[in-house]
Amino acid sequence: MTEKDERKPRDFAARPAKEQQEFIDNTWCEHCLKENLGLVEPEEYELSGVIFIEGKCKQCAKIVVTELTDEEF
Ligand SMILES: [Zn+2]
Repeated sequence: MTEKDERKPRDFAARPAKEQQEFIDNTWCEHCLKENLGLVEPEEYELSGVIFIEGKCKQCAKIVVTELTDEEF
């Protein structure tokens, strides 16, 4: 399991509040099969050059990962 080692934590809290809110609101939960349920405890990290926001679904509390593409870093 080397994947975990390659995760480089980024500072989600350093993003502007408005941006943070957007990431928290715009989610897709593959467990609930619903979008925009919301996220708790968001964490940001980089893996293989891709930025991810990971948190827990507000509804089912399972892990939800959002991949950031074409976003400014
Ligand atoms: Zn869910």
